[in-house]
Amino acid sequence: MTHFASLCSSFVYVQFAQGAVLDSILSAFRSICGEDGVLLGEAVREQHGKDESLHRCCPPDVVVFPHCVEEVSALAKVCHNHQLPIIPFGTGTGLEGGVSTKSECAACLCDSSCLEPGVTRKALNAYLRDTGLWFPVDPGADASLCGMAATSASGTNAVRYGTMRENVINLELVLADGTIIHTAGKGRRPRKTSAGYNLTNLFVGSEGTLGIITKTTLRLYGLPEAMVSAVCSFPSVQDAVDSTVQTLQAGVPIARIEFLDDVMIEACNRFSSLSYPVTPTLFLEFHGSEQSLKEQVSTTADITQSNGGADFQWAQHAETRNRLWKARHDAWYAALALRPGCKAYATDVCVPLSRLPQIIVETKEDLIENRLTGPIAGHVGDGNFHCLVVVDPNDPEELHRVHLFTDRLARRALAMDGTCTGEHGVGLGKRALLCEEMGSMAIQVMQGLKDTLDPNNLMNPGKILLPKAL
Ligand SMILES: Cc1cc2nc3c(=O)[nH]c(=O)nc-3n(C[C@H](O)[C@H](O)[C@H](O)COP(=O)(O)OP(=O)(O)OC[C@H]3O[C@@H](n4cnc5c(N)ncnc54)[C@H](O)[C@@H]3O)c2cc1C
Repeated sequence: MTHFASLCSSFVYVQFAQGAVLDSILSAFRSICGEDGVLLGEAVREQHGKDESLHRCCPPDVVVFPHCVEEVSALAKVCHNHQLPIIPFGTGTGLEGGVSTKSECAACLCDSSCLEPGVTRKALNAYLRDTGLWFPVDPGADASLCGMAATSASGTNAVRYGTMRENVINLELVLADGTIIHTAGKGRRPRKTSAGYNLTNLFVGSEGTLGIITKTTLRLYGLPEAMVSAVCSFPSVQDAVDSTVQTLQAGVPIARIEFLDDVMIEACNRFSSLSYPVTPTLFLEFHGSEQSLKEQVSTTADITQSNGGADFQWAQHAETRNRLWKARHDAWYAALALRPGCKAYATDVCVPLSRLPQIIVETKEDLIENRLTGPIAGHVGDGNFHCLVVVDPNDPEELHRVHLFTDRLARRALAMDGTCTGEHGVGLGKRALLCEEMGSMAIQVMQGLKDTLDPNNLMNPGKILLPKAL
C-alpha cells in the first residue's frame, strides 16, 4: 500500500453582485489567478453549469481557474467577504446535478474556477504505469479524483478494493472562509488511525457543500500479477444474484462482478458489436497470482454451474479483457443508443445482497407496467444497481412517469433496509429521499455540521440538504 497526493479541481463561484461590486470582485479574482484564469464566456459558463444528469443547465456567471491551494484560499476569502456562494467543479461527469447553480436560493449570478486541470483517475493510472502500482476505484467515467472524493464514488472494482471512503487517507481542503485544513493532519498517511473525529470521511461524499478539496492522499495497490475476466449467462436474475452471493460467501476475493439484465446485454451487443446471449449476465474479473486465479476461477465456475449458468466465456489477454470492460463502461452510451435523441437518468439504489433479486425483479415489472425503457446494470457484489432510464426530455408526461418510477424505486430500496444512493450522491434530486432515509434527527445533525463549517451557506448551496424553512 502506498499513497498519492493529487492537486485537482476546478470550481464555480455563484454570486449575486452586479455593477461596481461585480467589477471589484472580478478584479480581485483576476489579481489572484490572472486574466486568463477568470472566464466569462457563454460556452465555458455553460460547460461548468451542467453535469451528465437530466438536471437543466444553469450556467454560473464566471468560471475561475486557480493554480494552487493558496489561490483557492484567496478566492474563497473574496467570496466570503462578499457573501458569494461557491460551486466546486471537477470534470462534470456527476449524475445528480451537483454542479448546477439551480437551487431555491440561486437567484444568482455565478462564476467558476479550476486549479490546474483536475487529475483524473485515468491520468493517475497512466502516471503510475511503470511503478507496479495502481488506483483501482473506477467509476467508469474519467472523473477527477477530487470530484470522486466529493461524491464518494466507487464503481466496478469496489467489491474487492472498496470505495473512495476506504481509499482516501487525507484531504487538503479550503473552507468557506478561506481557511486551509488537512483532515488527517498535514502530511499524515498512516495505514490506520483512531485519532479523534473522522474528518476525512466527513468530507468524502460532502459534494462541495462543506469545502473545496484541493488535494487527496490515496491508498494505492500493487498491480495484480495476473488477471482474468469472464462472461456468464443465466436463466434468471435470481440465478445470477445467487451465484454472486455464493461466490462472495465462499470467500473468493473477486475483483469485479457486474450484472447486466437482458435489456442491457442486448443494448451492449448492439452498441459494442458483441453477441452474448440475451439473458441476465455476469461480467467477472479475478486478480491474483496464477495459482490463486486457478482456485478462484474453479470455485466460481462450480458455483455458477450449480445455478444454471452457461459455460464461462474467458478473456485472458489484455486486449480481450479491455474490450469486455469497455463494453461494460459504455453501457450508458449503449442505453442512450436505444432511443437516439433521448437523455438517460441513472437510478442508484443499494440494498443488502439478500434483497437484491427481489428488488431487481420488482423493478423490472415496474418498468414494463409503466412503459419505460430502463436497462439495468449493477455492481451486484455490493448490492448496488442502476436502471439507465432513457427518456425524451421534451415529453413532460414521460418525464413525470420517470420521476414517479425513480421515487418508487428509491422507496423500495429504503423499505429493504437499503439506501437511495450507493455511489452517485444526493445532489439536487435526492434531498427529500435523504430525509426519509436518515430521519429528522440525523438530518438535524447534518444541518448542524453544515451551519458550523459554512454558517453563511456559501458552499454549493441547495445540494444534499433541503433549504431551511424560513
Ligand atoms: C458514463 C458514466 C458512468 C458513471 N459510472 C459511475 C460509477 O460506476 N460509479 C460512480 O461512483 N459514479 C459513476 N459516475 C458518476 C461520476 O463519474 C462520479 O460521480 C464522479 O465522482 C464525479 O466526478 P467529477 O470530477 O466529474 O465531479 P463533478 O461532476 O464535477 O462534481 C460532482 C460533485 O462534486 C463536487 N466537487 C467536484 N470537485 C470538487 C472539489 N474539488 N471539492 C469539493 N467538491 C467538489 C461538485 O460540486 C459536485 O457536487 C458515472 C458517470 C458517467 C457519465
